[in-house]
Amino acid sequence: MGVRRTAVVKLAVSDEQRDALHRTAEQYLYCANRTADYCWSDTSYTECETNKREVRDALYSELREETDLQAQLVQAAIKRAVEAVKACVERWKKGQRVSQPTFTAETMDYDTRSATFYRNKVSLATVESRVEPSFVLPADSPTPYERYVLSENYEFRESTLRYDAATDEFYLNISTRRIDSDDEVSEDTGHSDQTVLGIDLGVNSLAVSSTGRFWQGDDYDHWCREFEKRRGEMQQRGTQAAHKALLRLGKREEAWRKQYIHTIANELVSEAVEHDCDVIAFEDLSDIRERLPQAKWHHVWAFRRLFDYVSYKAPEQGVSVEQVEPTHTSQRCSRTDCGFTHDGNRHGEQFECQKCGYEVNADYNAAKNIGVRYARKRQHKLRSSPKSGSGDAQVDVRVNGGTLNGESHQPLAGD
Ligand SMILES: [Zn+2]
Repeated sequence: MGVRRTAVVKLAVSDEQRDALHRTAEQYLYCANRTADYCWSDTSYTECETNKREVRDALYSELREETDLQAQLVQAAIKRAVEAVKACVERWKKGQRVSQPTFTAETMDYDTRSATFYRNKVSLATVESRVEPSFVLPADSPTPYERYVLSENYEFRESTLRYDAATDEFYLNISTRRIDSDDEVSEDTGHSDQTVLGIDLGVNSLAVSSTGRFWQGDDYDHWCREFEKRRGEMQQRGTQAAHKALLRLGKREEAWRKQYIHTIANELVSEAVEHDCDVIAFEDLSDIRERLPQAKWHHVWAFRRLFDYVSYKAPEQGVSVEQVEPTHTSQRCSRTDCGFTHDGNRHGEQFECQKCGYEVNADYNAAKNIGVRYARKRQHKLRSSPKSGSGDAQVDVRVNGGTLNGESHQPLAGD
């Protein structure tokens, strides 16, 4: 397997193209949800169908009949749903709470049959005829066509069309694969040394970076409560006018929420860029509800959104986004010469290591641990890969006033 890269490009879409794309997305989501219905069973995970071929054989002709979608888009929708069900089954096996996947976000996977790239535009299959929106790019930058489709080093694989309701824009995430080497490890960034920014998401602070920057989220909590209060008042009135006002309020709230998270995502990516980080590491969010029982729904919503936004914004700046196992990141001492892990190390917002006495903000401690976990995992991978020749590659975690390495602890100012 080669290394994959994703580029994000905004599309200039006319009203007519917009309609066609929305209608295509609607039918695509219909196919994905129908597939999930077919595959899912609430009884037991052994009853869930996860064999892609079986599912395709059962549903493909039917869905082609029922929709105006082109063959590849029907297949892509089936594939997406089967993969989502498969992921749920894996978590179910581990005893985690799961429910049938549902698809509501307007994203569609295109391959070389359903999307054709030209220098300044892309031709996309829709339920009508094909549409050809052009790319929105700075004048002097190479187009995705020049950069990836024509590239000797990258093989164009597939692209995902994504509608962003907050900005009312369509984006294309173009995914390519390096083909000049079979060495997957050392090629990600062209060099094997890396610097990582660790991010902790939590209730005390929405996000904290390993560089010690805090996104407190106090005003986020405040406004979520205010909106809730207003909603409660309107619901009590129960008049038709109040009902309409309630709908308007809901829309306003959603737009505000998205804008808020957008801003944090941008700042977070800038933090990585300013500190020369190649990677932003988050915790895996799949079990966030179980791990953070005190998190309200608007927190969980914010975590997922933030991760999503950063995942598509960071690659534009040449920064990749990774997730690590979340276990014990808040109980572990982040001093690399200690690493003592104990429940009693954490007291609310404060961390105090019971072994070495290290005292620091608990979320900052967790953010460093997340960075270190990624660094360790990667260093291990580099060393155990016989072909990479990068056994001495360095993976550092950017912290406040210095860097941490998987093994050695360098002196840190202000740490
Ligand atoms: Zn310690």
